[in-house]
Amino acid sequence: MRVFQCAVMGSGGVGKSAITVRFINGSYLEWYDPTIEDSYRKQFSVDNQPCLLEILDTAGIDQYLTLNDMFIRESEGFVLVFSLCQRDTFEEIIRTYEAIRRIKLPEGNQIVPLVIVGNKSDLIDEREVDSTEGEKLAMDWKCTYYETSARTSTNIVPVFEDIVRQLRRSDLIR
Ligand code: GDP
Ligand code: MG
Repeated sequence: MRVFQCAVMGSGGVGKSAITVRFINGSYLEWYDPTIEDSYRKQFSVDNQPCLLEILDTAGIDQYLTLNDMFIRESEGFVLVFSLCQRDTFEEIIRTYEAIRRIKLPEGNQIVPLVIVGNKSDLIDEREVDSTEGEKLAMDWKCTYYETSARTSTNIVPVFEDIVRQLRRSDLIR
């Protein structure tokens, strides 16, 4: 079976590992080692068709340097995560997006499969980024936007279903 590859990227502490692990095995831990980088594979069904998704949970210490570039080169799709409670992490995904464009577009890709994720939607009182801002970014980038909570397991599955749909579509175009 075709293995689709996606990378989960974003600032430290936004919940990349929590989202990934929640999706992979349904569990939620309060604490994940922030330096651990791991990849996971999961077979699941999207629109009644089986698929195999490999998810790279990044832990970029040197945020926008060589390591990130390598992940971008190796991945076909991207889940860009920020925290709804931390505006600077929202700004950060814009930089990552620019790096993705710089690396992926010259390869002849017109569209890069991409999902924007605003995580920690459960922390309602701490919100710093409005839904409309995430939606606006998704319009500009012609991608999709989800607000998730790894803690309450809200909207986690739809994120990965969406990236699979986009990866399938880009396979057809290529
Ligand atoms: P990473 O560095 O992006 O991989 O972030 P982690 O997954 O390690 O999460 C960083 C911290 O945020 C941890 O203490 C998590 O428990 C917490 N966290 C992650 N997702 C959520 C969420 O949806 N809601 C809340 N309230 N906390 C979260
Ligand atoms: Mg992590």
